[in-house]
Amino acid sequence: MYVFDKQSKIMHCKFCNCRVDWERKSSVDNHIKSTGHKVAKEKFKTNKIKRQASVGDCFDQARKAKQDRAEFTKSVAHAFVQANIPVHKLDHKAIRKLFNKYIPGGGDLPSARTLRDKYVPLLKKEFDEKLEAKLKGRKIAVLCNETTNRKGEAAFVTIFEVLPSAEETECFLMVASVKILSAANADTTSKAIIQVNFNFNKKYLRGYEN
Ligand SMILES: [Zn+2]
Repeated sequence: MYVFDKQSKIMHCKFCNCRVDWERKSSVDNHIKSTGHKVAKEKFKTNKIKRQASVGDCFDQARKAKQDRAEFTKSVAHAFVQANIPVHKLDHKAIRKLFNKYIPGGGDLPSARTLRDKYVPLLKKEFDEKLEAKLKGRKIAVLCNETTNRKGEAAFVTIFEVLPSAEETECFLMVASVKILSAANADTTSKAIIQVNFNFNKKYLRGYEN
């Protein structure tokens, strides 16, 4: 890696960034053998490898940034859904301003529409998967009750009590369905229960016995 400047007759070592006396061969040989030159040459090589690796690093970082952004957006959607805050509130100027000012990367947040179309279904899917795993092989007791809403309709609630199993000693309750019935009688309520059980079996239990 030597550059020879014909005009000024200077030989330049690129590794060491210095001039090399070239008029005598021995001085060139000496320079090449010198510790300083060897160290500089090694350093140059490692820097080159680093530079090459950094292209790959760039892709990794870009990928990581993309994942981070998606994770952040999903977390925001999750928090809003859990807190029962309508997602469209995210498009409010005041909320945007707050995010941009105080949350690092807050400007990355997509529109409420994207959250609703892309991220909320994603959360639902994850929730369903977790629930399916939790319900695997469990026996379920079906509890029902009815109350009258403000309009005078029958709000019929079905709650599942997931019973303990050999692996899981804890039982838990979950709201399986809330149905508004025109009237609460043996016919309408039994239909509602059958419907809930049918949907539930199809969706989560996939043929498991319960
Ligand atoms: Zn050198």
